[in-house]
Amino acid sequence: MSGGSGERRRAVVIGSGFGGLALGIRLQGLGVDTTIVEKQDGPGGRAAVREQDGFVFDMGPTVLTVPHFLEELFAIEPGRSGLAEPDFPADPYAPPTVSEDGSSGGPATRRYVRIVPIRPYYRIHFHDGTWFDYDGDPASTRAQIATLAPEDLDGYERFHAAAKEIFERGFLQLGYTHFGDLNTMLRIAPELVRLDAVRPLYSFVAKYLKSEKLRRVFSFEPLLIGGNPLRVPALYAMIHFVEKTWGVHFAMGGTGALVRGLVRKFEELGGTVRYDAEVDRIEVAGRGPHRRARGVTLRDGTRLDADLVASNADAVHTALRLLPEHARTPSETVRAHGRRQSMSLFVLYFGFRDDGRPLPLAHHSILLGRSYRELLRDVFDRKVLNDDVSQYLHVPTLTDPSLAPPGHHAAYTLVPVPNLTADVDWSLEGPRMADRLVAMLDDRGYVPGLRERIVTRSFVTPEHFDRNLNAWLGNGFGPEPILRQSAWLRTHNRHGGVRGLYMVGQGAQPGAGTPSVMMSAKMTARLVAQDLGLHDDANAYAAR
Ligand SMILES: Cc1cc2nc3c(=O)[nH]c(=O)nc-3n(C[C@H](O)[C@H](O)[C@H](O)COP(=O)(O)OP(=O)(O)OC[C@H]3O[C@@H](n4cnc5c(N)ncnc54)[C@H](O)[C@@H]3O)c2cc1C
Repeated sequence: MSGGSGERRRAVVIGSGFGGLALGIRLQGLGVDTTIVEKQDGPGGRAAVREQDGFVFDMGPTVLTVPHFLEELFAIEPGRSGLAEPDFPADPYAPPTVSEDGSSGGPATRRYVRIVPIRPYYRIHFHDGTWFDYDGDPASTRAQIATLAPEDLDGYERFHAAAKEIFERGFLQLGYTHFGDLNTMLRIAPELVRLDAVRPLYSFVAKYLKSEKLRRVFSFEPLLIGGNPLRVPALYAMIHFVEKTWGVHFAMGGTGALVRGLVRKFEELGGTVRYDAEVDRIEVAGRGPHRRARGVTLRDGTRLDADLVASNADAVHTALRLLPEHARTPSETVRAHGRRQSMSLFVLYFGFRDDGRPLPLAHHSILLGRSYRELLRDVFDRKVLNDDVSQYLHVPTLTDPSLAPPGHHAAYTLVPVPNLTADVDWSLEGPRMADRLVAMLDDRGYVPGLRERIVTRSFVTPEHFDRNLNAWLGNGFGPEPILRQSAWLRTHNRHGGVRGLYMVGQGAQPGAGTPSVMMSAKMTARLVAQDLGLHDDANAYAAR
């Protein structure tokens, strides 16, 4: 590391989610001594692991995309934060290389965790028993459209071309833009309008495709990051392209193995993680324009001094619970209260006996209910539970049997539900929903005989997100991704009123989902480097 006063700076990062860990690694690479303080007794935040009766359940993210973002992190070394390097490969369409042992992670990633490609990316089951395997392969996609809705073959080509343009502009060129001022946003607004990227995604897809089934196939993906397809801007059509371009991957041993790899990387670089260390207050010295973050105080009264503080915790929790009142502007308080929070989730983790019958499932399956638009309105607007649920079913033991005892499968099924603004008594509805999901998976033949085969189960409701993760109103994915909460209108990575205070992770720019959160960490690290005058050693690059 070069620059600054020559003395090593100290940072505290609040939270060990993907965002906190990625930022910690980058800060250590920049030569900043970083301590991550985590409320939970283990790392990962939403990506924590639940071990139960010999089964290993990833509690959250399972669909890994953009493996080169991980490779960047694992390749960081002291004096080589990689911040000055290009954000995307020179040929962005070159597929990730798969080594002889089937791993798709790069050489640095392989030292920490084994990542493998998953195909199909998703099997999307419709209510009438048919399904669509989405695997990014143009020939197989066309063949399935020809069977399901031949009238949409041309429309798909046009949708594909439009989504590609949005991906190239919105992700490859602008994805890493920090919208720190209004002008940056105003400059790109006309172009987003030209690309029709501000229209709601479902309506954008419907412009090209007549089949309701295909409209669902090509609009459900933002649900995996808390977006309502009926409202999320069509900018999110880029997710389709991100997956198509770089594939969908899985960490052997589960996402938990990836999290452990990131912790190991951080600690090898000299960073420290403290668990069971909930932050009670961010310490801010000075008044007015001279306000500066000076460290944090933990619940047990321990004070940790630092030159900079970055919060990976929920953005509203940070603004209203962690920042002292004198450090907040009245408009920040109003904005925090006015944030529309994303939906929440009910997740049922279950283990069942493998009775030798093949499952009609892929590693990642989307089980769509009869209704789609009605369900989305119930979850996002009317805020009521709907019996006709859609589910994301994850059966990782189809790829990695080590996650369950021999002769068994580990699985979770995730259902979008309203956040805690809804009037739902989860102490009653939780067990009921768990029973209903088991019955549904059994009766519809997704896991035949599940009632008899199930050997362990547990679940989380929106209250888990609220109580354990400090997620405002029990949101599953931070603030809802809608236009008025995007770009400059989303929490900035550098706090506007307190120097030395940063925000990283799904609550801040650019948004939720593990790739965006890793981007958030890089954007934040760049701002820190700029503010502290830090840069990589030229020799570190020369030596590569
Ligand atoms: C069930 C589920 C499935 C998902 N599936 C996918 C998927 O397949 N692919 C994908 O890309 N994304 C997926 N997502 C989204 C993705 O998991 C998140 O966007 C991402 O993990 C968020 O990371 P983060 O670092 O921003 O926040 P978090 O993971 O929420 O981490 C924040 C951390 O801060 C800690 N914290 C909070 N307050 C304090 C405090 N006061 N003091 C100390 N620590 C504190 C919390 O305990 C937590 O560990 C999924 C999310 C969920 C919930």
